Amino acid sequence: MRVIILGSGGPLPDPERGGSAILISVAGRHYLFDCGQGATRQTVRANVDPAEVHTLFFSHLHFDHIADFPFFILSSWICNRGERPTVIGPRGTDAFVKHLFAGGAYAADIEARLQFRRRQTNRYAIEPNVVECEPGVIFADGVVTVTAVYVEHIPREISPCFALRLEAEGRALVFSGDTAPCEAVIKLAANADLLLHECTFPEQAIEFRKSAAIGTWSHTSPIELGKIAAKAGVKSLVATHFAPWETTHPLVKRHLAPHMPVDIVGPHLVDEVVADIRQNYAGELRLAEDLMRIDL
Ligand SMILES: [Zn+2]
Ligand SMILES: [Zn+2]
Repeated sequence: MRVIILGSGGPLPDPERGGSAILISVAGRHYLFDCGQGATRQTVRANVDPAEVHTLFFSHLHFDHIADFPFFILSSWICNRGERPTVIGPRGTDAFVKHLFAGGAYAADIEARLQFRRRQTNRYAIEPNVVECEPGVIFADGVVTVTAVYVEHIPREISPCFALRLEAEGRALVFSGDTAPCEAVIKLAANADLLLHECTFPEQAIEFRKSAAIGTWSHTSPIELGKIAAKAGVKSLVATHFAPWETTHPLVKRHLAPHMPVDIVGPHLVDEVVADIRQNYAGELRLAEDLMRIDL
């Protein structure tokens, strides 16, 4: 199993990191967890044809996890996708997809392109098969099995959020999606070979955001992440989904200012975040970067 982190950033525009997206390849098949901004371009940079990725999973419907989806679908239509894509996600996925294509946001473009016979022959490429699911085993194709649990991020009545576990070839990887520290993730990640877990803000930002009453949706701090990885007994941990707290870019710093004390933002925070995770977790540890490859 090969895992490529296509995007390790969050919702703020970040010159160094794209939106959430993880490409998993097993036995010649490709699976995408999330499709955040830039995911399609990064798939090409990883030398995988987006038109050959037929199964996508959404952890949740925040835009930094799904913004590239229309581009992914439309561009792989004109790159001759040969199979109808399947999108699996929480409640709301169907409405999101339905509003994009025929009769939706891209209706005029689709009508224009359908004037060409070549585009009519694989019209199924822009008619994704959408599966809205509840927690449990949400997908199995004889190669991989994917299980979802609810996590604590957006209130469930507004929009449910998942963590995902993928098993293949006797290995298991777990992706937290976005979440506050969550018992369900610890259970889901028990003894996993790899845990990809969000670590959006450094320790000092968590308190700052509470007092500033900004960004009420919940995330996991580095110290809490170390505890989660230790409790779950994972063999390897990759922290991901970073707000750009290591940036030196003045504009990005300005965007980050409402979320954390901007005078502490900078590359030195990398050491602090690692030390905070290390307070509780002694296993293999990496901080995600875009196009990081992990072989399992
Ligand atoms: Zn996010
Ligand atoms: Zn989110």
